[in-house]
Amino acid sequence: MNTSPEDILRTTFGYDSFRLGQQEVIDTVIAGQNALVIMPTGGGKSLCYQVPALAMAGLTVVVSPLIALMRDQVAALKANGVAAGTLNSSTPPEEASAVNAALRDGTLRLLYLSPERLLMDGMIERLQGLKPVLFAVDEAHCVSQWGHDFRQDYLRLAELKDLFPDTPRMALTATADDLTRRDILDKLFDGDAVEFTSGFDRPNIRLGITPKKAAKQQLRRFLDTHAGESGIVYCLSRKRCEETASELAADGLTALPYHAGMAKADRDRHQDRFLTEDGVIIVATIAFGMGIDKPDVRFVFHLNVPGNVESWYQELGRAGRDGAPAEALMVYGLDDIRMRRAFIDDSERTDEQKRFEHQRLNALLAICEAASCRRQALLRYFGETTEPCGNCDRCLAPVETFDGTEEAQKAMSAILRTGQMFGAEHVIDVLTGTETDKVKKRGHDRLPTFGVGSDWRRPEWRSFMRQLAAADLIRVDVGGFGALKLTEAARPILKGAAEVRLHKEAEGQKTTRKRASSVMPEATPADAALLDRLRDLRRDIASAEGVPAYVIFHDRSLIDMAARKPQSIDAFSDVHGVGEAKLAKYGETFMAAIRAEIA
Ligand code: ADP
Ligand code: ZN
Repeated sequence: MNTSPEDILRTTFGYDSFRLGQQEVIDTVIAGQNALVIMPTGGGKSLCYQVPALAMAGLTVVVSPLIALMRDQVAALKANGVAAGTLNSSTPPEEASAVNAALRDGTLRLLYLSPERLLMDGMIERLQGLKPVLFAVDEAHCVSQWGHDFRQDYLRLAELKDLFPDTPRMALTATADDLTRRDILDKLFDGDAVEFTSGFDRPNIRLGITPKKAAKQQLRRFLDTHAGESGIVYCLSRKRCEETASELAADGLTALPYHAGMAKADRDRHQDRFLTEDGVIIVATIAFGMGIDKPDVRFVFHLNVPGNVESWYQELGRAGRDGAPAEALMVYGLDDIRMRRAFIDDSERTDEQKRFEHQRLNALLAICEAASCRRQALLRYFGETTEPCGNCDRCLAPVETFDGTEEAQKAMSAILRTGQMFGAEHVIDVLTGTETDKVKKRGHDRLPTFGVGSDWRRPEWRSFMRQLAAADLIRVDVGGFGALKLTEAARPILKGAAEVRLHKEAEGQKTTRKRASSVMPEATPADAALLDRLRDLRRDIASAEGVPAYVIFHDRSLIDMAARKPQSIDAFSDVHGVGEAKLAKYGETFMAAIRAEIA
């Protein structure tokens, strides 16, 4: 019997409403049309094919490039009582024969396959006999030769349209650039698909960017506001990764390093613990996160500036995929900017490509130094316009700007008069009239600029220097040991032909302790103990069943449970993410834990 998408959403997945864009995609696919779905990470792509799969009587084949991801998706579907399975090189024989039997009986609703597996050993012929009702190609950007994730096997998925001319196909990806989109449309659909693109905003992620002062303390303070939660700390270097992880571990936190220099077995073990245990902090280089589908990552902390806006967005986007409040904070300093510029200059690129990369970095730095809403600036980069968000550091603690042309001219002339040979600290010595040995030895105390900036303090000058660097008016020269140099764009400012706006960083600005509340009711402090107990219970069940904790319940479900304290089957079924299968399987156990805690 066919059931409506709304019923499936409620009874199988335990969710109240579709997210932006889901309903339209689902209706289109059920109506038999092809669909290309572009949604940001965490936007809820999986449901776009899982709901049609359940609404249409028959088999849906999901093609996905990552075995671990397929395994977790299948576990999550099974926990919701859905007949799902995967066949891949690491499927144990008993499981494979169960999947094969369910395929034969026609009871299997979702079959997850890697593209290699789909195209090998008679699988195609077998599927032709089974007449699937839908093909869903996940991570569809892998067909594009332009992208980093290109896979030869994905190209062959073009054959599906001839092999299964009557079966609707959908392709899903988070990569939105035009080239990739056209490639997918071309190769998988011959142009014949309805396109869906949903916005880039991730409103549940609180955004923050703050100048680097004492990075270690900044990290610690941030982690204190996220005790017991899972998160990722991104660093630039492997060494920094290792150091940070062991410092945090020495402080009693569960922090594990992850970078490309580690043995694969160690990396896998750390990733596995991150996925299955609560409250694990991964300290990683960018190598971490590709193909990680953990919905309840509560924070992402950048110890260094990412290379560009896209990377920043992609990395912070690993937080809060479940839609519950999450936080992303980046600390950045002049050093980071210098290091990033060096990366670009030392890379094997043509001069033109280097210029392009510098511009991409400039766009990110401009967001770092923006005095207004971060989300507006971020979304503007992706071509979207929005109101100030109310959920970023700038919206929560506004800063005022002033005409900083005079300050910029003073800084620039100090840089020029010292021969563009000195780093920020020495230039600031000159500006503030500080008589260090180096200043005296070089005779810089006799320069006309000596002391002209003494009405501002050092931290303020440091911030102005960063703002000037972010606006690409000054550059930190890498070959010249961090010497500051003026760019072409500085000329009109020096001549007084253009204006610069600056802002003062608020003193002692802390990361906001308050949690975002717009998304859902928060557990009250009294519920914290209950929430801990529910988390413990979830962990025990997850390890007994050998699945990641979020397969049992998402954080958001536990928080909702702790707030509602359901004491009847009816009340429990109202909890976010509780469908019929989880109600039957876990309802009594979790209600007993709630009773015990509130008694
Ligand atoms: P992605 O687009 O990155 O593949 P997923 O499909 O993994 O995102 O979805 C992210 C999370 O959001 C999942 O845990 C999923 O269960 C949850 N989710 C998806 N749709 C909804 C919805 N309509 N209501 C509540 N949660 C949802
Ligand atoms: Zn904002």
